[in-house]
Amino acid sequence: MTFDRFPGRFALSGRLEAVTALHIGVGGWGPPTGSDLPLIRDALGRPFIPGSTLKGALRAAVERWVRTVRPSRQRACAITGGADARCLTPTRLEQLRREAAGDEARLAQAVVAESCWVCQVFGAPWLASRVACADLPVIVETWSGGVMVREGVALDRDTETAGGGVRYDLEVIPAGTAFHCQIEAATDVPWQLGLLALALRELEAGRLALGAGRSRGLGRVLLHVERRTLVRRDADSLLRYLAAPVEGGEPVDDAQVASWVASALDALRADALPVEVG
Ligand SMILES: [Zn+2]
Repeated sequence: MTFDRFPGRFALSGRLEAVTALHIGVGGWGPPTGSDLPLIRDALGRPFIPGSTLKGALRAAVERWVRTVRPSRQRACAITGGADARCLTPTRLEQLRREAAGDEARLAQAVVAESCWVCQVFGAPWLASRVACADLPVIVETWSGGVMVREGVALDRDTETAGGGVRYDLEVIPAGTAFHCQIEAATDVPWQLGLLALALRELEAGRLALGAGRSRGLGRVLLHVERRTLVRRDADSLLRYLAAPVEGGEPVDDAQVASWVASALDALRADALPVEVG
C-alpha cells in the first residue's frame, strides 16, 4: 500500500556513536566451527550499520512499551510471532478485501483501522512503514580503520545475544566510532511522531543497543541529534518546502517533540487514538 497524497515528512539527522564495542554481523551464521564472525561492511570495506538494524531496535522499544501499557495484539502485535499473533491475520485481511469489493480507498482505511499502533508507524507486510532509517555509514574521521576481535563470546545463535552454549570470536568496531544517522517519517500525525520520538529519546539517552552481545554490554549506542525538521501535509507547508528543498522543512524544537510525546501518551492512557483532523 502506498500513500496517495503527501503524508507529511519528519526528518532527523545526527551522529550515532558506539559507546561500547559494536558487532553487527553479515547476517546468517556460519558453521559453529568458524572462529570468526565478520562485521558487515560496505563495498569499500568500511563497517556500517544497516538502517533495518536501527529501525528494528526503535520498533522493539515501542512495541515493549505499548504492549506493557495495553497488552493486546490490536495495540502492539508480535512481529516475530506467527501470522495469528499479528494484529491483522491473513484471514481477516482477505475478509476486508472481499468486503471492500475493489474500493481501494475503503480497503486502505479498514486495513489501517485494524492494524496495531506499532504496525501503523513501523509498517507490516500489508502496510507501508512510516519510518525509514537509511543505512548508517561510518564517519571516517572517527574510525581508526581497524577492528578488534573479542574472543570467546558465548552467543545465542538465533538472537545474537549472549547466553548460548557456543563461543565465538567476534569482530567488533571499537567504542568511539560514529556513524551518520538519517531517519525519516512519512507523517505529521502527532501520536505517530510521539511514539517515534519516545524511541529516539532512548537512543539519545544511550539506552538502546544494537547488534550482537547486547546483554554483555556490547553495542550500546548514543544518538547526537544535529537537525530535526518537519514538513506538514498542508499545501502551504509543502510549497514552502518545495521552494527551498535544501532547508528540508521547518525546524522542530524540543517543545514540539514534547507535544508529540504527550499526544502518544494520551492515546496510550485513553486506549484510543485521537481523531485525525485534516
Ligand atoms: Zn501489528
